[in-house]
Amino acid sequence: MLQWRGEPQREFHEKAAAAARSRFGKRIFVRGVVEVSNFCRENCVYCGMRRDNRNLSRFRAHHDELAEMLIHHRPASITDLNIQAGEDPVAVRDVVLPLIKTLRRETDLGISVCLGSLSHNLYADLKNAGASIYIIKFEIADSARYAEMQSPGKYAERLDNIRHLAQTGWRVSSGFIAGLPGQTTEDMLQNLSLANELPLDGCSVSPFIPGDESPLGSAPMCGIDITLNSMAAMRLMRPDWVIPSVSALNLADPGKGYSRGLRTGANLVTINLTPSEMRGNYLLYKRDRFIMTEERILNAISGEGLEPSTQSLVDFYGPKSVAETNQPIASASA
Ligand code: SAM
Repeated sequence: MLQWRGEPQREFHEKAAAAARSRFGKRIFVRGVVEVSNFCRENCVYCGMRRDNRNLSRFRAHHDELAEMLIHHRPASITDLNIQAGEDPVAVRDVVLPLIKTLRRETDLGISVCLGSLSHNLYADLKNAGASIYIIKFEIADSARYAEMQSPGKYAERLDNIRHLAQTGWRVSSGFIAGLPGQTTEDMLQNLSLANELPLDGCSVSPFIPGDESPLGSAPMCGIDITLNSMAAMRLMRPDWVIPSVSALNLADPGKGYSRGLRTGANLVTINLTPSEMRGNYLLYKRDRFIMTEERILNAISGEGLEPSTQSLVDFYGPKSVAETNQPIASASA
């Protein structure tokens, strides 16, 4: 299925979109993202924010500036906010925790965080402050490749963190990178299989984009077809999951990829709210970023005959039941 093209591929994507529509109707969740720090203690070879990139001006955003924008000037369509950063525990303490507390007090936004591998205490602090969805990608479902790509920490720890978060009441969304150099179809199936085994509420597929200022900068970009086929397979595997259309789809298929993600069963979109002076240095892929504004997002949704959800992701998930939370933590290193 991952190799399908032409008519079989079109039918496959339609089937995936129909599965999403029968579970979620025409509703697409709309969240904002603020990228609050590009300091990173990790050294992933695919990422421009890796610690060895000395050309990058590092920044940490200021609580007051973000709070003012998010309380008084955020787009009306967003119901949730994702706070993202490189792996930077200083930013978590100095910026993210105060920001979550302010937003909880002043807004009804659902709060997601994507902050990497942190201590269990810090995860608990974030939850107590009022965040409830943790986004933590497993990146690659193979421990040797994970080490080779210098992905965050150790593979077994990353999976243990995912399980720990799920067991401590977080809604967890994970994800993987499609088409990393040397990745085979077998590896892609392995990614889908691991996603299915983990205690997740959502998952993303991001096409590999050769990152400016990363050691993989001259490697070939992942094809859009394998990315969309993986998204379709994931939607059919888990009709209940929240699956985003990621902005990198627009780099893999300029101008069209994002809408094609929605046509393949994605049900979440993200408006970038990072202050413009910081965006260029939040260097996952290219310095010249294609920014998903509210206008672009709403056009993509309506262009596919879909509608922005007025219900937040957090309300959709609801509190985690005891049965959902009490799944055993099977250690990845066991
Ligand atoms: N530091 C946090 C963490 O480790 O979860 C937050 C996310 S990290 C800044 C950004 C994510 O972008 C990574 O999890 C990785 O999957 C993705 N990413 C980075 N470089 C990429 C590339 N060249 N192509 C595709 N995805 C990439």
